[in-house]
Amino acid sequence: MVGLAQGCFDHAIKYCFERKQFGKRLYDFQGMQHQIATVATQIESARLMVYNAARLKDLNQSFILEASMAKYWAAEVATMATSKSVEWLGGVGFTRDYPVEKYYRDCKIGTIYEGTSNIQLNTIAKYLEKQYSM
Ligand SMILES: Cc1cc2nc3c(=O)[nH]c(=O)nc-3n(C[C@H](O)[C@H](O)[C@H](O)COP(=O)(O)OP(=O)(O)OC[C@H]3O[C@@H](n4cnc5c(N)ncnc54)[C@H](O)[C@@H]3O)c2cc1C
Repeated sequence: MVGLAQGCFDHAIKYCFERKQFGKRLYDFQGMQHQIATVATQIESARLMVYNAARLKDLNQSFILEASMAKYWAAEVATMATSKSVEWLGGVGFTRDYPVEKYYRDCKIGTIYEGTSNIQLNTIAKYLEKQYSM
C-alpha cells in the first residue's frame, strides 16, 4: 500500500507542476501545497511504520502491535493519497487518460485483505489493553 500511495503521488505531483490555472502552476497555490505536503508526510509515516515492524521481526522481537498499526495506517494513507491525487488532477483525474484513477480503485483492497482495518484496530486495542493493564 505504501508503494501504491507513492506511485500515485509521483504521478499527481508531476501533474501539479505542469497544469496551469489562473496563470500559475497548480503547485504554486498554497492551498495545494499544504495538501500535497500533508500527503507526502502521511506516506513517509506509513513507510517508516512498515520498516519498523519489519525491523522488529528481523530482530526476533515482538512485532504484532507494530505490524497491525503499520498495515492499518498504510491502507488509510493509500486511501487518502489516492483520493487526493484524483482531486488534484481535477476532471481528468476521474478518467482513464491518467493512471491515478486506477490507483484509487486498487487501494480499496488494502482495507480488506490480510486482515481488514477493523480487525487491525481490534488487534491494536487488545495490545493496548494488555499494555496499560499491567
Ligand atoms: C482481492 C482479494 C484477495 C484476497 N486474497 C486472499 C488470500 O490470498 N488468502 C486468503 O486467505 N484470503 C484472501 N482474501 C480474503 C480476505 O482476507 C477477506 O475478504 C477478509 O479477511 C475479510 O473477510 P470477509 O470477506 O469474510 O469479510 P467479513 O469477515 O464478512 O467482514 C465484513 C466487514 O465486517 C467487519 N468485521 C467482521 N468481523 C468483525 C469484528 N470482529 N469486529 C469488527 N468488524 C468486523 C470487517 O472488518 C468488514 O468491514 C482476499 C480477498 C480479496 C478481495
